[in-house]
Amino acid sequence: MTEKNETAEKTGQDERRPLQSVRGMKDILPEEAGLWETVEGIARDCFRRYGYRPIRLPIVEHTALFTRSIGEVTDIVEKEMYSFHDQLSGTPLTLRPEGTAGCVRAVVEHGLLASAPILRLYYLGPMFRHENPQKDRYRQFYQMGVEAFGLSGPDIDAEQIVLQARLWARLGVAKHLRLQLNTLGDLNERQKHRADLIAYLERHAEHLDEDARRRLHSNPLRILDTKNPALQEICAQAPRLLAYLNEESRLHFEELQRLLTEAGVRFEINPRLVRGLDYYNRSVFEWVTERLGAQGTVCAGGRYDGLVAQLGGKPAPACGFAIGLERLLSLMRLEAPSKEESVTVYLAHRGAAATSWAFRVAEQLRDAGIATILHCGGGSFKAQLKKADASGAQFAVIIGDDEAATGKVQLKALRDAAFGQQPLPLEGVLATLRECTSPHEQALST
Ligand code: ATP
Ligand code: MG
Repeated sequence: MTEKNETAEKTGQDERRPLQSVRGMKDILPEEAGLWETVEGIARDCFRRYGYRPIRLPIVEHTALFTRSIGEVTDIVEKEMYSFHDQLSGTPLTLRPEGTAGCVRAVVEHGLLASAPILRLYYLGPMFRHENPQKDRYRQFYQMGVEAFGLSGPDIDAEQIVLQARLWARLGVAKHLRLQLNTLGDLNERQKHRADLIAYLERHAEHLDEDARRRLHSNPLRILDTKNPALQEICAQAPRLLAYLNEESRLHFEELQRLLTEAGVRFEINPRLVRGLDYYNRSVFEWVTERLGAQGTVCAGGRYDGLVAQLGGKPAPACGFAIGLERLLSLMRLEAPSKEESVTVYLAHRGAAATSWAFRVAEQLRDAGIATILHCGGGSFKAQLKKADASGAQFAVIIGDDEAATGKVQLKALRDAAFGQQPLPLEGVLATLRECTSPHEQALST
């Protein structure tokens, strides 16, 4: 690469070439974006059914928010944040790498827990992490997150997991996902465990990698989260937090397991599950799959009872989770590789009476929830039907002056020769189109 090209690559400003998206940040084009909206709609509906309300949060936050909540010695804060200084004020700012910190900040800032000591919230949007891009690992990716505040018992932990299980079932991916559970105990228990863990890891010092050595005294628990297979083997024999739990933490964990069993949700205990952020305590969990290769965690979460106070609020217990949407959609694509499109009608019309009636028919189709492209710009029926075909619509509704006079329309299937073309009253058209609604769209109303 010449020096000039390298600069162009860095600045994205080679005037001879069209601009491209930033590495690790991809466009979601219309043919895919429809499925995204369907999935988001189903998830929103699921959250609503459990009493969660939406909150919309800024993408840019003060850098201090993340260093204070996620933890200084974590992958995210050490190497994955997009941070910069505001050009005018010089304030250190960061593109949010996750949603919980901003959500807690907003709850504290607006005193939401003062007016309602129990709060159930969800959010959805892009997150940013400077990672090495690979399949299902991006620098801009989307999360849907759910947070419950003010509840300390295992019942809310269990209910959130039951909600996730319901969502997987509705999206048709339940059979690919396994639930892994662990508990991180409380601060006191972790401190006792920490001393023994450090001593154990020091005995294996020669096998520790650079990350592990750096974390040995600052954040040894994180080492258990290693992705290095050799180190994973050593971690498998390390002292387990489970053995350090006091009565209260043990009961919390046992009750969570009992509630899940009662609800018919299967799980495995994974003592090495520690999660990549510091604010967790007690219950932590991940939904994992073997079907997506290395990027196997689709949803993760747990309890974070100390975070509200840590960010300046009156202490309040909390728990929540986040779903990685790219990975969830990759799983769904395994099940339904065909495009999931909703029915679209192309409305062709010719003649003065036909055109004014066509406007009204189009509105009535839209009233019934059917996407309708009304032909614009005149032309012969032959030319209009060519456009109908190119538009990707499944049906054409054809209205000439004859149809305008009789109150019927011609319904023509554009992708189904057996259906052909049929003269139908508008109610007949609506009934036929309803039958063609995609299974995912139907799931929205189940
Ligand atoms: P991983 O171990 O895969 O790096 P994580 O522990 O860093 O995940 P969390 O912070 O728990 O991830 O985020 C919750 C979910 O968001 C993950 O389970 C995953 O589905 C998704 N996610 C996290 N980072 C990315 C990314 N860079 N690209 C796509 N999805 C991601
Ligand atoms: Mg990560």
